[in-house]
Amino acid sequence: MCGTDAQVLPVTKTSKPSSVSPAPDHEPTDHHPSDIIINLDHGDPTMYESYWKEVGEKYTSITIPGFQSLSYFANKKNLCWFLEPKLEEEIKRLHKIVGNAVVENRHIVVGTGSSQLILAALYALSDPLNDPNPISVVSAMPYYSSYPEMTDFLRSGLFKWSGDARCFDKEGPYIEMVTYPNNPDGVIREPVVNRADGMLVHDLAYYWPQYTAITSPADHDIILFTVSKCTGHAGSRIGWALVRDEKVARKMVKFIEVNTIGVSKEAQLRAANILETISLSCQQHKPRDLDNFFECSQRLMAERWKKLRDVVDNNDLFYVPKFPIQFCNFTRDFTETYPAFAWLKCKEGMDCEKLLRGHKILTRSGKRFGCGDEYVRISMLSRDEEFDLFLQRLSAIGGN
Ligand code: PMP
Repeated sequence: MCGTDAQVLPVTKTSKPSSVSPAPDHEPTDHHPSDIIINLDHGDPTMYESYWKEVGEKYTSITIPGFQSLSYFANKKNLCWFLEPKLEEEIKRLHKIVGNAVVENRHIVVGTGSSQLILAALYALSDPLNDPNPISVVSAMPYYSSYPEMTDFLRSGLFKWSGDARCFDKEGPYIEMVTYPNNPDGVIREPVVNRADGMLVHDLAYYWPQYTAITSPADHDIILFTVSKCTGHAGSRIGWALVRDEKVARKMVKFIEVNTIGVSKEAQLRAANILETISLSCQQHKPRDLDNFFECSQRLMAERWKKLRDVVDNNDLFYVPKFPIQFCNFTRDFTETYPAFAWLKCKEGMDCEKLLRGHKILTRSGKRFGCGDEYVRISMLSRDEEFDLFLQRLSAIGGN
């Protein structure tokens, strides 16, 4: 199935609703596991559900009484007038604890997911150029499949998708999306065009300790983050941008004002509460019943990657990339990258998406990321039972 990461249901049964997901309460049904279609096409972060169930009501319940949060405005004195002060405080606190981004002298712009902020950034960078032709937007292949779709969706006169950054040779200004660790392949990226008239948007949705080593605080002109991939609360639709230049930040705010007149306060307050809980869980003198979120989620990612590698190593058909071990300043230990997606390669000449679909595993074809169809992207963030079923099926395909 095509679309952005949130457009499709996680598991689809051909006739009746499935027994694994998306039913949040896992209602028992009588379907045989072999009937279930496992949908790992999108990156729905349901894996984190088990942690948040443990932490439960004690740390993460918030009540918003009827008289609160009526106004459009959250802080009229702030450049981003719809940003809840509590969310701003918690974003800064968490970045300082994790050490993954510079927050001093940065403007924070909140968005309805980082998806909205991607478009806000494209608008903010391209509009002031007053160019009669749309400015090129590029990203190195394999790139996040939503970039081309978002860029060209409204056929804007301001910007247009121009494909793989490595092949880009057009004169004049351009915008390069730099994603690290990269979606879909987990690689730590740097800009590739590197020209003076280039503008960069750094999408760091996955620059968190459960996915990769935090080697230094990110320090770029525009950095995008999202709770979707940090905490797993994709449904809250909260993302934020750290923006160096005031004029760019004002333009991004203007985009969101025209687009949605701000961002839901309820969602912001919930996100603030979740980030606060994570920060608390990282403290040395944290409550005993609150496990360190990043330790737990990194352990889970490491286990999943080990299981996947075991299956792939015993199989002649598939290959997954290896990653270097690096020192993480947050965990004070050496760690591998455990990407949120597996970028699986099939033997040359095989259509990997089709092969897996034949075994009732839905994935996203490499073609959507600008590559060949021997590649697929597979979400590593599903619930345990879904992931285990996926491994069972994968090991049954062409196993030795
Ligand atoms: N950037 C990247 C690289 C992503 O993978 C995603 C989600 N798949 C997003 C941005 C958008 O995230 P959201 O809108 O949920 O914040």
